[in-house]
Amino acid sequence: MNKQNIDDQDIVQQHFDELLKLAVRSRLPDQEALIRKAFELAREAHKPMRRKSGEPYIIHPIEVAKIVASEIGLGTKSIVSALLHDVVEDTDYTVEDIRHLFGDKVASIVEGLTKISEIYDSDSSLQAENFRKMLLTLSDDVRVILIKLADRLHNMRTLSSMAPNKQLKIAGETLFLYAPMAHRLGLYAIKTELEDLSFKYRHSDIYEEIKIKVNATEKHRTALINKFSLPIIANLTEAGYDFAVSGRPKSIYSIWNKMETKNVPFEEVYDLFAIRIVFVPKPEIPEKSQCWEIYSRITDIYMPKPDRIRDWVSTPKSNGYEALHVTVMGPYGEWVEVQIRTKRMDEIAERGYAAHFLYKGTEQQESEVDKWLRRIREMLENPRSDALEFIDEFKLNLFSSEIIVFTPQGHLKNLPKNATALDFAYEIHSEIGNHAIGAKVNHKLVSLNSILKSGDQVEIITSEKQQPLLEWMEFAVTAKAKTKIKEAFKEVRRAIVARGKTNLEELLSEMQLRPRSDIFKKLFQHFQVSSKDELYNIFGNQDIDSEELGKILKKKTQNKLIRYWKLTFSRPGRKRDTIPEPAPMLIDKKKTLVIDDHLDQSIFKIAECCNPIPGDDVMGYRKSDTQIIIHKTSCPNAIKLSSSFGEHILKTQWTQQKVMSFLARIRLSGIDQIGVVSKVTSIISEELNVNMRAVNFESHDGIFEGTIDLYVHSVADLNNLIGNLTKIKALKSVSRIDVNEEA
Ligand code: MN
Repeated sequence: MNKQNIDDQDIVQQHFDELLKLAVRSRLPDQEALIRKAFELAREAHKPMRRKSGEPYIIHPIEVAKIVASEIGLGTKSIVSALLHDVVEDTDYTVEDIRHLFGDKVASIVEGLTKISEIYDSDSSLQAENFRKMLLTLSDDVRVILIKLADRLHNMRTLSSMAPNKQLKIAGETLFLYAPMAHRLGLYAIKTELEDLSFKYRHSDIYEEIKIKVNATEKHRTALINKFSLPIIANLTEAGYDFAVSGRPKSIYSIWNKMETKNVPFEEVYDLFAIRIVFVPKPEIPEKSQCWEIYSRITDIYMPKPDRIRDWVSTPKSNGYEALHVTVMGPYGEWVEVQIRTKRMDEIAERGYAAHFLYKGTEQQESEVDKWLRRIREMLENPRSDALEFIDEFKLNLFSSEIIVFTPQGHLKNLPKNATALDFAYEIHSEIGNHAIGAKVNHKLVSLNSILKSGDQVEIITSEKQQPLLEWMEFAVTAKAKTKIKEAFKEVRRAIVARGKTNLEELLSEMQLRPRSDIFKKLFQHFQVSSKDELYNIFGNQDIDSEELGKILKKKTQNKLIRYWKLTFSRPGRKRDTIPEPAPMLIDKKKTLVIDDHLDQSIFKIAECCNPIPGDDVMGYRKSDTQIIIHKTSCPNAIKLSSSFGEHILKTQWTQQKVMSFLARIRLSGIDQIGVVSKVTSIISEELNVNMRAVNFESHDGIFEGTIDLYVHSVADLNNLIGNLTKIKALKSVSRIDVNEEA
């Protein structure tokens, strides 16, 4: 035997001796003999194996057995099973061998543990269904779960020797599945340690940051705790209680969790602490009465928060937790939670029900543990708690920035918070996403925009006929989904545009025409589009025959300028009679031209190039002594004119009165939804200062585009209307365009 092996043997023996010391419930000679036998077998079986850290493999099962014995408080069979937990999986020994050597109970526990490992290692993604099986079918004995937790805890404690990618996977599983399971089983100390370890590997920077801050603020926190505790200590001492007050800071993970969920900085969380009063109950007085007596003494000192009393003494939690919680107003005006427990309750709370009996250690108590194990088993078997509902409880522990959901086959998918069923569909496959029409979330039919929650089981319903819709962009959250939708959408549109181009060219050639620019100009105007792509899109979507096309091409371009007052005051009325017919007038070059209804309508013309309306900055170009053309000051033509014919430019402004209306056009686009057009038109009709002249909508690929021609009095009215229209959710853009806009 070489030096290395001798050293190894020493280390292994040291670990095993520690185990025997901790196995206080296995003091009988035959119990200890059984543990030794299991140790010898495991050591022999794992002999050539080493852990990633380089130490002999057998140290791992010994450490797991130590956790099982001291931190969970289980007995001989569990310790034996823990020592053997990797033997069947990793060596040539079979479950039958174990049965032969250690009996049915140990064999079935080891078998359960082996199956769990097989499930986890055979598939890189966790499976909800298998998880459920792990809890219910495999673990005929709850000890399987408890040993599995111990196994996981030791793996987490030694995670640093694993490769970083494995670290993340294991840490993730631990947080999502094992820590909540420990919580459910009432193993709070293990739960907290699993959470902190998992957090350390998942977000090492933040972990270190919080750890440093916790250490830095420790003194201050201690001062707060002391200040709060002193009056209580004085009071309870006087009353003759044997007690201890502790104020432990929160775990790093729970601090971070609070920072995340409440969106507050560390400074607002760090001084939140819970005070725990653990007392040795006086004999012959019920524990419950004593808890309430202490409650009463504390609330004599600090004011309680009425709705924050939790009495788990009268009715313990299903996992065995007992305590009386009260929240009181501390001396600094902060709420402080006080937990009142007897020593017995504290042991149960910290280490699980079984640990409590460590200190009793009699045969009779063994059946108490069995009772507890049975109760947990009943809890897990509760018909209401199917796998998904079980995972439901895990949500509280999830990182708030991500969720986990499951496929119908139980495969786990990580998605960002607020991800929808559609994101899930694209997460599975882009083809599933592209053809998705709906989803079943936990067997209930929902729409694709439904936001998923952690633990949801999601099935996507597809249809071959479905195509990606532009509105999907509104609720797709993941980059993957968004990219795929855009790609697919472009693909669909490209096909339609190509078809439209062919259609149009064929029609024109039937009519012996060539696609000339004047033909496009007419078509643009008729269909109110501004590019060839948009035009082809129409010809790709609609059935336009040569007869219809011929009619369109024969139409003349209309003049867009219409004067509103002629329409509104055309009926004979008193008002019209009172307006004197203005005499033909000459233009005073020096005066500002005010455009109002006293102005001779023949004297000015609204420029068709820029189509200004009241409110726009305008200027007049004096074409002749009797005619002025009104341009927007920003109009390129106007700029050209003023630089070349500066003397012909006339300062011009609109009247403040709303007497005339001018034609304006707005362009809308959005998602093609039922009722969207009627929403648009009803908003317009509610606007008193706006009259609708023409509406032109078309829809394709789930989106619609359209233009509306309106008579408005001013830019203010128009902007007001645009503002109201943008409140319609389905509308993606609403903007004013030039009436003659073609480009
Ligand atoms: Mn193991």
